[in-house]
Amino acid sequence: MSTVIVPDTQVFYVFSPDVKPVVRVKRGDRLIVYTKDALGGQITSEENVVTSMDFSKVNPATGPIYVEDAQPGDALLVRVVSVEVAGRGFVVTAPGAGALPRLVREARTRTCYVYGDSVEFLGFKLPARKMIGVIGVATSEKAPTGVPGRHGGNLDTRFITEGSLVILPVEHPGALLGLGDLHAVMGDGEVCVAACEVPGKVTIELDVAKNLAPAWPVVQHNGSFYILVSHDKIEGAIEEAVNVSVEALSRGLKLNWHDAYMLASLAVDVGISQLVDPRKTAWTRIPTSLISLENLLNALSELR
Ligand code: CA
Repeated sequence: MSTVIVPDTQVFYVFSPDVKPVVRVKRGDRLIVYTKDALGGQITSEENVVTSMDFSKVNPATGPIYVEDAQPGDALLVRVVSVEVAGRGFVVTAPGAGALPRLVREARTRTCYVYGDSVEFLGFKLPARKMIGVIGVATSEKAPTGVPGRHGGNLDTRFITEGSLVILPVEHPGALLGLGDLHAVMGDGEVCVAACEVPGKVTIELDVAKNLAPAWPVVQHNGSFYILVSHDKIEGAIEEAVNVSVEALSRGLKLNWHDAYMLASLAVDVGISQLVDPRKTAWTRIPTSLISLENLLNALSELR
């Protein structure tokens, strides 16, 4: 086991088996991954707006990282040890973007400042929610890094943070993991299209669970499992997340479907990660007291 450093000069823009890995690591290795912000570092003051950016440099993910032993059909387990962000970030709007696209007539930029566990924005002090926006593995779909899906990608989910375990389905040898797009703080929905977008540094540890690739990304955090489902429409994402969760409880707890449906109604929460990316992401939250990780992954791997 060793510690591997991946600099933010090694970035890519499509989760694809065609992108050559920049580093090879083993299960159990610790990685320190430096990341650019989601705007590719192109916004450096409030005078810069997104409409003047080079869009080919947006959403850089650091990597890809080849994980030895990770084979198609396996689950890649990413333990997030720490998320450290820069002291300054930017929030942006863009015409036609966000949850209220018709109301945005011009692009604007604002600065946000990070002070320890707080973020200052327009003089308001907000509790920091340091998180990883983009984390994923190579997919035959060749998904741009701005798009979320079964492979992960631009999930913009605030539970992907320090102490969480992110579980992704491996589609290609070595998994070809990439990550980036750190946020110092973001509300569920990410309504204006951006969070407090910051560069930074993530420490992770990697493991592989053989033959347990889940149908959708799963995050374990603070006593909960989150199943993250992305779809063109948020209604579609919610329906599939509920469907997969009920099926997982039915299979994992050996309940008939109706009983699992009722149990989900009592014990499972439904929420929204983001409403603003090319696909929208919804989550369901299942308490870890209800089902073991092994049973959940067994069930979710049957649903692929
Ligand atoms: Ca994002």
